[in-house]
Amino acid sequence: MTNIEPIQAFTDNYIWLLTNGSSAVVVDPGDPAPVAATLADRGLTLSGIIITHHHFDHVGGLETLASQWECPVWGPDNPAINGITHALSDGDSVTLLGLELQVMGVPGHTLDHIAFYAASPEPVLFCGDTLFAGGCGRVFEGTFPMMRQSLNKLAALPSETRVYCAHEYTMANLAFARAVEPANKALAQRELDDAARRERGLPTVPSTLAMERATNPFLRAGTQELRDALAASDRLSDQSDDGVFATVRSWKDNF
Ligand SMILES: [Zn+2]
Repeated sequence: MTNIEPIQAFTDNYIWLLTNGSSAVVVDPGDPAPVAATLADRGLTLSGIIITHHHFDHVGGLETLASQWECPVWGPDNPAINGITHALSDGDSVTLLGLELQVMGVPGHTLDHIAFYAASPEPVLFCGDTLFAGGCGRVFEGTFPMMRQSLNKLAALPSETRVYCAHEYTMANLAFARAVEPANKALAQRELDDAARRERGLPTVPSTLAMERATNPFLRAGTQELRDALAASDRLSDQSDDGVFATVRSWKDNF
């Protein structure tokens, strides 16, 4: 059985640690120091690194850790990332610590962004900066329709999928979600639950896809509830799904 736990980095990054008790794999090690400290504390051997996209806070510790542990690095097929030993594209898969991770191309936040999904023993998703708990990444390199399509691919995974995103942005995301859909009851309950977690110093991540579909406005562009909420605040000019998504993403960029 693979255990998954967060290593905190910078101010709000999560580097996910997958371990079977002796070997470990890390996802998006932006900073090598907290990873090295955790491995040393726990007596773990680093057997691999996986990367979702090229941003520094996701790859900054890659070369230090890979050379120290002489371990392989799986990540996007992007020559701009130094140290990738196994380039991956949509449809590939890689088996690490007994988990078969399927690679999904999810461009939008960056053009090289990939996500990793394992269907069993329990469905888990490592989605970097594409889908966040209660929100989604900024669209830096792609287009809004591209980002919406990538989020839709993730949203089509099983509802019990646990969503391991790379940042603790949840409370700010939920405050925005409430501005968009003030009458969403599942959202109000989620805000209370996640606020209680933060007060106890606990992560709000992972969430589940069921929770994201119910409360995350970026997965709700196709719902009538979200359209009604946008229409009520007089923000909706383009009625298409892409138009709804662009309206919400642009609003969040300035929230
Ligand atoms: Zn990023």
